[in-house]
Amino acid sequence: MDDTRPPIDRAIGRASDVATDVATDGAAVGAQVAAEELMIRCRSLVQVYRVGGGDVLALQGLDLDVRRGEMLGVVGASGSGKSTLLSVVGGLLAPTAGEVVVDGIDLVRCSRRRRERYRRERVGFVWQHSAQNLLADLTARENVERPLVVAGRPGARRRAEELLERVGLGDRASHRPTTLSGGEQARVALAVALATEPAVLLADEPTGELDRATSADVFELMRDISATTGVTQVVVSHDPDLVDHVDRVVGIRDGRTSTELRRIDDDVEHVLVVDEVGRVQLPLDAVDALDVRGGVTVRVEGGSIVL
Ligand code: ADP
Ligand code: MG
Repeated sequence: MDDTRPPIDRAIGRASDVATDVATDGAAVGAQVAAEELMIRCRSLVQVYRVGGGDVLALQGLDLDVRRGEMLGVVGASGSGKSTLLSVVGGLLAPTAGEVVVDGIDLVRCSRRRRERYRRERVGFVWQHSAQNLLADLTARENVERPLVVAGRPGARRRAEELLERVGLGDRASHRPTTLSGGEQARVALAVALATEPAVLLADEPTGELDRATSADVFELMRDISATTGVTQVVVSHDPDLVDHVDRVVGIRDGRTSTELRRIDDDVEHVLVVDEVGRVQLPLDAVDALDVRGGVTVRVEGGSIVL
């Protein structure tokens, strides 16, 4: 690679190399990943919220593939559509347009009843605020039992105790949430989310209220759960260390996946996402650095794309 090029050319050239390689082996947006290896497949997802003053476009043609057992991180500015994406993938919200298939279930075409059953039985949610995850009047064990009782599963008490053991809180089973630390509440929330053995665990800023060290512990527990149960996880987080804990991080900008970060040994590799029709979002700092708004020329040079 010609290192005398300006930084933006080098950066984009490098990113494009990777994207090209990746597109060939099918791991970028996963167009060529065999359907049975995919747990989540989103194509051209659009979500419009109709509000008094007009429409809010929360997702604008988002593409995303998540492999079975993968632990995916999602980052993006506030308002970029992260929570909306989790709501759609979790069956809480039917998208305005586009495709979303999770665990072989077409969430757009299936009946409302099917979607609700999917949400109850196949999805575990962890929200940022403990109050959204845990009922204050119930003990830790009763909180974990609840989804099992609702689903009519036998042996709820025993399974709840095992799960609390699993998240390191075997000795806190009879505590109410307010008597637990933030990190412990996050662990109970994980146990609740995993109670029905979901195929997907969706976590929206699960460590948002925790300090850095406690966050790292919770992420490591999630990582461990991924490895032992094979559950597929999508974790929205602002944690600067996120990429250390997950398999891959996608960046969402304006309701669309725009970048990917992966840790390859000691390096973090930045990949620009190229969607199925070839659209790319350049990083804003790169756009600003060279003031390329309005248009650039593009040239293919050997294995690189030069803008
Ligand atoms: P993030 O989680 O990345 O902060 P959200 O998915 O919450 O983003 O929101 C994406 C956009 O959709 C924002 O502009 C937000 O204001 C809007 N939005 C989210 N939920 C609603 C809603 N229920 N009604 C109207 N607008 C909403
Ligand atoms: Mg959000």
